[in-house]
Amino acid sequence: MTVGFIGLGVMGEPMARNLVRAGHDVVVFNRTRKDVAGAATAATVAEVAEAADVIITMLPDSAAVLAVADDIVAAAPELWIDMSTIHPTVSIELAGRGIATLDAPVSGGDVGAREGTLSIMVGGDAADVERARPYLEALGKTIVHVGGAGAGQVVKACNQIVVALTIEAVSEALVLGSKAGVDPERILDVLGGGLAANRVMEMRRRNFLEHDFTPGFRVDLHHKDLNIALESGDAFGVPLPATSLVQQHLRALRAKGHGAADHSALLTVVEDWAEHRIGSKEEIPCPA
Ligand code: NAD
Repeated sequence: MTVGFIGLGVMGEPMARNLVRAGHDVVVFNRTRKDVAGAATAATVAEVAEAADVIITMLPDSAAVLAVADDIVAAAPELWIDMSTIHPTVSIELAGRGIATLDAPVSGGDVGAREGTLSIMVGGDAADVERARPYLEALGKTIVHVGGAGAGQVVKACNQIVVALTIEAVSEALVLGSKAGVDPERILDVLGGGLAANRVMEMRRRNFLEHDFTPGFRVDLHHKDLNIALESGDAFGVPLPATSLVQQHLRALRAKGHGAADHSALLTVVEDWAEHRIGSKEEIPCPA
């Protein structure tokens, strides 16, 4: 079986490498040409689709996935696994095009992609999930079939709500504590030992404390993902007030030109309002 891999960005490139490392026969394609050692390189989407039995896509958004969909469907692969984070309704539409599809978005970031430890939430037919397992196991540690077509994307939206709101909560706590005179490191140390402990505080600790907002996960992508969450809330009749608020903060960061910063830069929105940079006694006009 040949695996066609489309989209070799921050996530896709290391994922394609892990498939090669696991012994799969891989052919890759990216819009701007990129190669992966041990894999063949195709010149077009149609070429990779023709060469492959199973296609995996790891593209930025719904528009990019729709842009390659016609060529993939025309080549009629045995299975198309879309691992991009896109709108659930687009995944449902793709599942109706007459080929076997799975929506299988991931969490775990660039580190998880490199180490093959991604958490993968899969929507689609149970038999297709079993056929996909040998490939998904090369990419992730936690692989959960969460429901029918689109369900993987719905769960990913749930994940993105929790991550964004947690960053916001940690940011507000740090700015309050620090402006009141407490060392932010001590705040993180003691919160990490109680009910408030969370992975955002662990994994973004250095970003917050050093104001280093090198991505990581870009503000632009999280903004896209909360749009998906809010549109899904609209479609299913679920108010998401706190998500709406944090979405505005992400929008503010983008308006300031920080769309390519790590999402932990949400801290700076709270800092700006409070006129306080955590860990300093100085007033700040605009950090980051
Ligand atoms: P990225 O922007 O780094 O990579 C996307 C790649 O797709 C780029 O190399 C681009 O050239 C290519 N591309 C775009 N349109 C194309 C097309 N029509 N045909 C072929 N190639 C095309 O994005 P990423 O960070 O790798 O994220 C990919 C997906 O994974 C996104 O949906 C994102 O939300 C999701 N995701 C990202 C992370 C993360 O930490 N970066 C974590 C979890 C999920």
